[in-house]
This record gives sequence, structure tokens and C-alpha cells, in this order.
Amino acid sequence: MTLHIPFDNSYARLPGRMFAALPPTPVRAPRIIAVNDGLARLMGIDPSALARAEAELAGNALPEGAAPIAQAYAGHQFGAWNPGLGDGRAILLGEVVGTDGIRRDIVLKGAGPTPFSRMGDGRAWLGPVLREYLVSEAMAAMGVPTTRALAAVTTGEDVYREDRLPGAILTRVAQSHVRVGTFQYFAARGDGEALAALADHVIARHYPQATGPADLLEQMMARQARLIAQWMGLGFIHGVMNTDNMAISGETIDYGPCAFMDVYHPDTVFSSIDRTGRYAWSNQPLIAHWNIAQFASALVPLMPDQDAAVEDFTAIINRFPALYRAAWLEVFGQKLGLAATEDDAALIDDLLALMAQDGADFTNVFARLGTPAARDEFLDRAGFEAWETRWQARGPDTALMARTNPQVIPRTHLIEAAITAGVTGDLGPFHAMLAAVTQPFVENAAYMRPPAEDERVLRTFCGT
Ligand code: AMP
Ligand code: MG
Repeated sequence: MTLHIPFDNSYARLPGRMFAALPPTPVRAPRIIAVNDGLARLMGIDPSALARAEAELAGNALPEGAAPIAQAYAGHQFGAWNPGLGDGRAILLGEVVGTDGIRRDIVLKGAGPTPFSRMGDGRAWLGPVLREYLVSEAMAAMGVPTTRALAAVTTGEDVYREDRLPGAILTRVAQSHVRVGTFQYFAARGDGEALAALADHVIARHYPQATGPADLLEQMMARQARLIAQWMGLGFIHGVMNTDNMAISGETIDYGPCAFMDVYHPDTVFSSIDRTGRYAWSNQPLIAHWNIAQFASALVPLMPDQDAAVEDFTAIINRFPALYRAAWLEVFGQKLGLAATEDDAALIDDLLALMAQDGADFTNVFARLGTPAARDEFLDRAGFEAWETRWQARGPDTALMARTNPQVIPRTHLIEAAITAGVTGDLGPFHAMLAAVTQPFVENAAYMRPPAEDERVLRTFCGT
């Protein structure tokens, strides 16, 4: 059976200046690393045909019905405006409506240069491809809205970073790749027609309930509040929350220097380029708010009365802290087995303060709460036991905790070990880890151990 993908490419039907149409650049010797059978079926694609489609997954052959394009976008990177980013190493093959009725993009990430590549080679190396595969599929398994990994291939070519490294391509799936930065691109150019087409596209696709830009802003903001609260509840640090890395759909996108905390501290930063801690764990809600304000600014030109729109949109954006607070209470309440109200905020804060003071392991504290082993996560046992007594008095729901607090997260040192082995040609550790992190609520001792002192990864890299 040949690969059949039931494409229906709505973005490629938008005005041509919103993207560049071009095919991927072929590679020398593609080989399959992994294929995601469950996701393929959900998308109406035969997994066994996909498992033989290394040519299509590498961009050496185009599946019938594909309309390959690189999307234009701009963005604020670390707060600094960049008017021209765009897909420099990703090519959207097209869209598919799945058996669940959801429309999804299929993108080859690392598919070769595009008009948006600037100085880049348009390629990816194996490390970031394996990392994104593991982390995005773990996030999906933990119930976090996210882009997904449909497949990964090696290219049989080397790419040059600090070293010569094996090239790879990830097949990424998202409900769309429209970013805050996509809106910014057209707003900054004063291209009202493209901006309106984009807003219509996004409303039809992601927010069919929205009656116009104000509603779109409000509903997008609600999804972001929920998303960031979920990240916080998992100790996840995105690492590059630039406006071009915030998806309008409310999915987590662009896994670069991201990492889950082992030792808990609210100021934790991993990314080597985040020198000021702009994207530290505790800053993520503030940055989301800032990014949403940029989204609002980009929507203003769509409104007939712009002064009134600025006033309206400001009022909407000002509701973000309260929305986020409610989402945070819900997420951390569930982690403690509670339907939390504002009265429980101190209980949550006090536990986090004890964890920070003792350098406790974020994931394992929550995974073990309610068992005798929880105590061992703390140095200040008396302090923890006093907290535990207050918490038990609230009557926590342990079943709720078991489906909220993961036992297994993709720990950075284990991702690094899987990459190191992968570079030497051994994909065993990657596949074993993928099996573990996609069953996050199942105990799995080998993947629950925090890193030893000498295994700790303190810095992560964008790894483009
Ligand atoms: P990122 O930091 O991954 O969000 O990427 C920021 C911008 O750099 C985007 O416009 C990317 O398309 C572009 N970019 C990243 N890596 C490469 C690469 N290897 N070749 C070309 N463009 C790239
Ligand atoms: Mg990006």
C-alpha cells in the first residue's frame, strides 16, 4: 500500500503573500526512526504505509495532495521586535481532518532552506528531533495541549553546528501553526486584508464560537491561562516564550531548550541564552500576559474604531491575571486532590515554599504525597509533617491525585542520555524512554529517579 493522506489545505488557499510555496529539499539516505501509530490512525493515515514512507517523511517525495508552503511570521524574541522570521526550516505539507473531526497541519521540521531561512541551513540534527518527539508526546499523554510527533527520520546527511552531527527531520502535527507572530507580521506591514483573512481562518478553525476579534482575544486568552497553569503544574519550563512561539490554538509549540525541573525552585531557568531569566518557571504567566497583549495590539487594525478597540482590548487583557489565578488554583488544587478555593492558596504556597527551601524533587513530591515516602523528599520533616496534617484535614481525593500527578516525566538527563546513544546509532534508549513517558501515570522506577549530582543538566540549548 502506498501512503495516502487525505489532504485539505485551507492555509494554502489564503492570499499568496502569506507564505512561500516551495517543496522540501531532498536528503541523501532517509531512514525511519519512529512512527506514531495511534496519531496516524486518528488522522486517517494507515500506520503501516507510514512506516514505509521514509521518502515522504524526509521530503524526497511529495504525498499526493500536498501543497508545501513555508509560513511567514514575525515576533518579539526576548522582548525585541523582529519583523521577519517565518518558517526557516519547516515546511507545511498540508492539512488533514482526522476521524475526530479535528483539522491538523502536517509539517516537516528540518526540511531544508526556505526564503525565511536567513543564515540558517534549514536543517535539524538528531538531538532536538528526539527531544521534541519525547517531550511533545509526554505532554500529550499528560493531557497538555501540544503539537505532536507523527514520525521522525534520519537523513543520512550531516549538519554542522558546533560539531558535525547526524541530520534528522521531525514530522510535526499541530491544530495549526498560526502564532501570535503570524498576526504581528501582517499588522506591522499594515496589510489589513491578510490580517482579516488570517483572523477569519483562525476563528473558523479554532474558535468557531467567536463573533469577532474581541471574542477571539478573550477565548484565546482563556486557553493560554489554562495552558500555562498546566505547564506550571508539571514543573515545565518552555524556555523560549517568544511571541512567534505562542500558538493561537493554545497548544504548546516549539520545544527548544525546554525542560522539566527536577529540584524545585521558582526561579529555575535552563536555556543558555536566557541570561536574565525572562522565561524562568515563575515568570511564565507574566510572559504569557505580555504576549497576549502583543496579540491584542495586532488585532486592533481589524476594528473600525481603533481608539474604542484599544480600550476594549485593554479591559479584556486586564482580566488575564484573574483567569490565570483560577486556572492555577484548579491545577494545583487537583495536584493536592482538592477542588481548591482561594482559601487553599496558602496550603499550596506553603508546600511549594517547603519544597524550595529543601530543594525537593518537584515531580516526586506530588507523585508521593499521601504515602509515607513523601516525607523522604524533605529535609525539614517536622515542617512537612505539620503541612501534611493541615492537608489531610481537607480530605484529599487520592484517585484525583493519581490521574493528575505524573510518576514519569521526560527528565532532562535521561533525554540527554537517549540523544547521546542515538548519535552513535543506538535508538534503544530513545524507544524505551518514549514507552515510559507516554505512560506517565504508571510507576516506572528506572525513569522516576532524579539525576545524581554528576548527572544534572544545568543548561539546555535551542539546538536548531
Ligand atoms: P526558534 O528559535 O526555533 O523558534 O526559531 C526562530 C527562527 O529561526 C524561526 O524563524 C526559525 O525558522 C529560524 N530557524 C531556526 N533554526 C533554523 C535553521 N537551522 N535554519 C533556518 N532557519 C532556522
Ligand atoms: Mg519558533
